[in-house]
Order: sequence, then C-alpha cells, then structure tokens
Amino acid sequence: MDTFVTVILAVGVAMFFLRGYLKKLKKHDELARRIAEKGRLSSGDPQGLHPHIDATHCIGCGACTTVCPEGDVLTMVGGKAVIANGQSCIGHGLCAQACPVGAITMVMAGPSMGADMPYLTEEYETTIENLFIVGELGGLGLIKNALDQGRRSLDVIANRLRGTPSLPGVYDVLIVGAGPAGITASLRAIERRLSYITIERDEVGGTVAKFPRQKVVTTTPLEFPMYGKLDKTELSKEHLLAFWDMVLNRADFNVCTDSKVEDIQRTDGIFSVMTATQRYRARAVVLALGRAGTPRKLGVKGEHFPKVMYRLIEADHYKHKRILVVGGGDSAVEAALGLGQQEGNQVTLSYRQGAFIRIKARNAKRLEESARTGKVRVIFNSMPVEFRKDAVILSVNGKLESIANDFVWIFAGGTPPHEFLKKIGVGFGMRDMTVDGRNEARQRRVVLVGQSS
Ligand SMILES: Cc1cc2nc3c(=O)[nH]c(=O)nc-3n(C[C@H](O)[C@H](O)[C@H](O)COP(=O)(O)OP(=O)(O)OC[C@H]3O[C@@H](n4cnc5c(N)ncnc54)[C@H](O)[C@@H]3O)c2cc1C
Repeated sequence: MDTFVTVILAVGVAMFFLRGYLKKLKKHDELARRIAEKGRLSSGDPQGLHPHIDATHCIGCGACTTVCPEGDVLTMVGGKAVIANGQSCIGHGLCAQACPVGAITMVMAGPSMGADMPYLTEEYETTIENLFIVGELGGLGLIKNALDQGRRSLDVIANRLRGTPSLPGVYDVLIVGAGPAGITASLRAIERRLSYITIERDEVGGTVAKFPRQKVVTTTPLEFPMYGKLDKTELSKEHLLAFWDMVLNRADFNVCTDSKVEDIQRTDGIFSVMTATQRYRARAVVLALGRAGTPRKLGVKGEHFPKVMYRLIEADHYKHKRILVVGGGDSAVEAALGLGQQEGNQVTLSYRQGAFIRIKARNAKRLEESARTGKVRVIFNSMPVEFRKDAVILSVNGKLESIANDFVWIFAGGTPPHEFLKKIGVGFGMRDMTVDGRNEARQRRVVLVGQSS
C-alpha cells in the first residue's frame, strides 16, 4: 500500500514539473515566434542571402549570435536562435559556419524579394544561354562573394570552351564592369587562357573605389586568381585598390574604361555588345554591373545645384561648413558621422522616418554618441522640400523650417540596372536553389558556338 502511495505521489510530482516545463517551453516558443516576427516586420524581409535556422536541430549554444559582424541579425530566445533583425543580414554566412550541428543554412531571399531578382542557375547563368550575372547584381553583397562568383563563372565558361577553336574577331568572353566581380573574372580569364575584354563605364575598382577614404573593407582573407590568398586580416580600401593595380598591371589587364555598355544582342549564338562608339563580339558575356546603378534623386527643387551630391569620399575635405545629410541607411549615417568629426562642421542628418531601423548596431551607437556631443543633429520625420544657394527648406512633421547650408549629401539608394537587364531579355523570378546548391537547380544543356554538342 505504502509503495502504491509513493508511486502515485512520485507520478503526481513528475506530472507537476512536466506540466511546468511544457508551459515554459510553449511560452519560450511563443516569445521566439514574436521576436522573429518583430525582427521581420521592423526590419523588412532579409535581402538576398540570409540564414535559415532549423529549430529542431538548434542546440542553443548561441555561437551563431556572437560571430555576426553586423551585430544583431540573430538572437537567442527560449534556447533557440531566431532572426531578430533580418534586414541587417548581408550574407557573411559566419553564423552557418559557426553552428556546430549544421542547423543553419544560408538561403536566398523569399519569393517577394526573389521576384525582383534576375533568374540565375547554380552556375550564375541567366535565362539567356552563356550570359552570366555575378557579384552584387545577382543579389549577394560583399566583396568576398563577388570574387568567388567572378572566378566560378569564368571556370564554367572555360570548361564549356575547352577544346574548341577560337573564332576570328570574337572574344571568348566579354566582361561588363570592373568592380571586384569583374576584376576577378578578368584575372581568371587570363589564368584560363581565354581571349577577353572588360568594359567599364567609370574607373577600375567599382563600388570599392567610391568608398570613403581609409574604410576597412574586409576582415576575412581574400583569394585572387593570378595571385593566391591575400592574407591580411584587415584590408583598407586603399590597400585593396593598390593591390588590384599591382596585379592588373602585371597581368596586362585588357580593360576599356569610361565606356558604358548600352545594349547586348545575341544572334546565332554570338553576342554583340554595344557601347556609344564600339561594337564587340563575344561567345559569352559576364555582367558584373553591381547594384549601385544610378543614385536615386529626390526630385526636389534646387537639386541641380552643384552643392547637392550623392557620394562622399573625402570627409576631411569639408571643414567649417553647414552640412545636410539626407537618408536613413548606413551610408547616410556613416557620412554624417565622418563629416561631424571634421573641425567646425555643423552637420544635420534628416530622415523621413521616426527612427533608424536599418542601420548597423555599431553605427547606431556612434550616432547616439555624436548626437549627444552635438557633432550631428538628427531630425526625424523630416524631408527637404527645396535646396537654395545658402539654405535648405526642410519639412519637419509637416512644418517648414529653413536651415543655413553650404553642402547637401543625399543617400536615397540607387536604381539597380534592372531596366537594362529587361531590355536585353534577361528573365526575372525566384531562383530554384539554395546557395549551398543542395537542391535541384535546373541544369540546362548549353552549347557554346564553336563547341560540338
Ligand atoms: C557604402 C557601402 C559600403 C560597403 N562596405 C563593404 C565592406 O566593408 N565590405 C564588403 O565586403 N562589402 C562592402 N560593400 C559591398 C561591396 O561594395 C559590394 O558587394 C561589391 O563592390 C560588389 O562588387 P561587384 O563587382 O558586384 O559590383 P561593383 O563593385 O558595384 O562594380 C560594378 C561595376 O560595374 C560598372 N558598370 C555598371 N554598369 C555598367 C555598364 N552598363 N557598362 C560598363 N560598366 C558598368 C560600374 O561602374 C562598376 O565599376 C559596401 C557597399 C556599399 C554601397
């Protein structure tokens, strides 16, 4: 009888604790769901590549949350990793590498984002045979990704061309854009002994050449064709540009700068690539155009004044000036911080929303400090309505305010070259693969001109 009572009591106590435990687990799950939802809602869907967490495998070690250079993309809730700030993810992928049980996979953006991206196969090929898109234009940010894709796309082309005779007057490959992706594709073309030309509308270096002075561009070692691993743990913009200069000079880089590609047509398997003055022919084309496109204008009266600019490289060239920076992303905040550091500047940062929801945690912290010390004045819920010679008229919460002004920088994003892609016939839509290529990417049999099928 005693034993029976003891067993009943033990079962009762166990049930009591089990119920408590399950209740707690449910509460944590609910909290995790709410945080994930909040992260998504407050920050918008993750762009491009982002982590997907398999909650059933996550062991809650938290390693993924400590390695992210962007700070707060992931957080731990109820012993599981969840996405807390999806928009901040720019696809480093360190969380996936750090996860000891492989519970994180890096995947491309959801269908809403994917629909706005050119369709690409696993080999970076568009819906047009032998027309490839690499680098940021394909949806993946970061220099290291651009380098990797530039090299891999050229390998695909070189393998398809292997053993085929070259065609007179036709390049094996034409590369458009000399940013990180285009430079690497060009170096790989030399390494794989392909005839090539690279067309760049501006200068060599792409977006990197336009970074602010001394900006640290990467903390992970980069690997380049024709050179190997550049084992620097911290690389500044100037170092990277000097390095490219050295390697490209040595390799006799066949580039045509200040030349914008305006149209591409394909007839009988050969591409004709048109600039304002030239027509080139090629068997394959690699588009490494980036996504910066053309800076977006506000369409505000007086925006044509030369004092209104869209890019800041040398913050220390501006001292004792009255400056307005417009925008709410990291570029705007970093420009305002840089200008606010200079002697005698009065810097105002105008943002149309009521809070910064997209910026890196470290920028938010620095801005808070600069606002506290009076280096940058932040005006939320505001937008410029007119730029005058010595002033700017701002609408602040619907009321007009005039502030004295010498220079304006606008960071309202850029228009990616999607119209150009559509014009040349590139299809858009969700891609059918994850980045690690684990699933069933549709492989098409492609044959290059001059290659037997
Ligand atoms: C403010 C800012 C800060 C960043 N900081 C970092 C960082 O610290 N670390 C990091 O890894 N990444 C950083 N990035 C991202 C990084 O710059 C990009 O991911 C990288 O430059 C992409 O390389 P890409 O070659 O694809 O494109 P880009 O570098 O954009 O190069 C594209 C090139 O194509 C040319 N082009 C475009 N259209 C045409 C045309 N029709 N004809 C001819 N040429 C054309 C352009 O002139 C340009 O030179 C940053 C980006 C920004 C905007």
